[in-house]
Amino acid sequence: MVMGDLPRDVDLVVIGGGPGGYAAAFRAADLGLETVLVEARGALGGECLHVGCIPSKAFLGLAALATAAAEAHGAGLEFAPPKVVPERLREWTAASILKLAQGLARLARARGVEVVTGRGRFMDAHTVVAAREDAAPALFHFHHAILATGSRPVPLPGLDAGHPRIWDSAQALGLPSIPSRLLIVGGGYIGLELGTVYAALGSEVTVVELTESLLPGVDPELVAPLERRLRSLFKAIHLRTKVTAVHEAPAGARVELAGDGAPAIVDVDQVLVAVGRRPNTDHLGLEQTAVRIDARGFVPVDARRRTADPQIYAVGDVAGEPMLAHKAMAEGVVAAEAIAGRPAAFEPQAIPAVVFTDPEVAWTGLSERDAAARGIAVRAARVPWSASGRAVSMGRADGLTKLLFEAETGRLLGVGLVGPHAGDLIAEGTLAVEMGALAEDLASTIHAHPTLSETLGEAAELFLGRPIHLPPPRL
Ligand code: FAD
Ligand code: NAD
Repeated sequence: MVMGDLPRDVDLVVIGGGPGGYAAAFRAADLGLETVLVEARGALGGECLHVGCIPSKAFLGLAALATAAAEAHGAGLEFAPPKVVPERLREWTAASILKLAQGLARLARARGVEVVTGRGRFMDAHTVVAAREDAAPALFHFHHAILATGSRPVPLPGLDAGHPRIWDSAQALGLPSIPSRLLIVGGGYIGLELGTVYAALGSEVTVVELTESLLPGVDPELVAPLERRLRSLFKAIHLRTKVTAVHEAPAGARVELAGDGAPAIVDVDQVLVAVGRRPNTDHLGLEQTAVRIDARGFVPVDARRRTADPQIYAVGDVAGEPMLAHKAMAEGVVAAEAIAGRPAAFEPQAIPAVVFTDPEVAWTGLSERDAAARGIAVRAARVPWSASGRAVSMGRADGLTKLLFEAETGRLLGVGLVGPHAGDLIAEGTLAVEMGALAEDLASTIHAHPTLSETLGEAAELFLGRPIHLPPPRL
């Protein structure tokens, strides 16, 4: 390898410029550390900005608009069906991504974070090399490093990932076409969000899910209203089913299925594989360091996000579940502060999760299953949104607010929501769990009327035996 300059001494090298990496680099620079951020893609923002959170939410916003317009019919407002112009949809999303990436580049410059475009790899436990396309490799000798290389889609075993009829989520978000018939493998976050987008754009969507439920692991009470609505939006949802083969067919792909009640063969135009993501921990030279990798490829870290190699930290998707952007950012800040010598630890009481479907599903803190596993006795308070004036006036009484309290103390341990705007409403629940709020705190907090947030206050009232918009408790 021809090297450029001799290794340059820096306080911190961050590998990966996604939400975890840029948050870490920004906080470290603000704390006075000379920081270099190595990012392979020509822009900051990671998978989240370029092929994840942001484009998917841009399309979901438009899908919601189309659905609302169609459903306004019942309320006496009639719109013509939308004309979908894929070229403009692509331009609209690309413009938002560009604006946000430029904003991140400006923020990096303003704090003196040096962004190097290249692929980072450890030469040894104190040196990173950034391989660059248009220049000699750059070498950095670091006091500390943060690994923030994120994750990538898992291909379906036995299927050719390069097959033109098979997309991963990044390809699907490029909106290369709007297939008449789209088969989605995986009924998790991505399968359901992108299924919602393509269904709104006019595709006939079929979802194939290996396990017995959509969003496996999520409270079934929250999933049920979503599943009901998706079953009317999608052509079919096949649970306990797997794809065994995909063959090229004259007008698309012929997909073989094996499962409970599913047809043996489905003919579609396109297949989207969304069966999970795996951490990017290969080809990083980690074997030159003391960093360990677990059986699933994640890097085990301590509360400060330090790996088994004391000067190397890891944050974001690479450091384990949940693989969410806000968790990555929070970890990035903790790692930077720990490296700067501040007392810092990643010990949240609650990490919110949101599936941005229609209805949205959101949860935070403990679920009943988590509480049972920890031997904590809990009592749940459920407010169906048919008791919410706002939800009924929106024509969306199918939602549910579920609060989980420690039975003995009345302390709020977890919140689950399903319904429009659940992803925004969950913030109150996360704050309340994080602050150790009691049912009384939520019940005596005045919630504006008429808002969906009232259902959180009402659920706390219910727990205390004094609901207003639900029948009185039997004394
Ligand atoms: P990433 O965002 O994956 O960034 C890692 C970066 O490291 C990448 O830019 C990559 O180019 C770079 N890199 C990798 N290897 C190297 C190397 N050797 N050298 C230099 N650079 C390297 N999460 C949410 O919280 N909300 C959502 O709504 C949401 N929606 C999503 C939708 C989709 C379709 C997908 C795929 C994901 C979504 N996620 C969402 C998950 C979210 O994108 C991730 O949790 C988040 O991006 C993780 O951030 P990160 O910094 O760990 O890694
Ligand atoms: P996922 O883990 O959410 O869902 C994958 C689904 O595929 C699961 O339901 C699983 O049972 C199923 N599956 C696995 N193998 C299968 C097979 N052979 N056939 C049929 N089904 C199969 O993964 P994802 O949807 O790919 O998303 C990856 C991660 O990205 C998520 O776990 C989440 O961390 C993140 N993400 C978050 C958001 C958000 O925050 N709104 C959105 C998208 C992605």
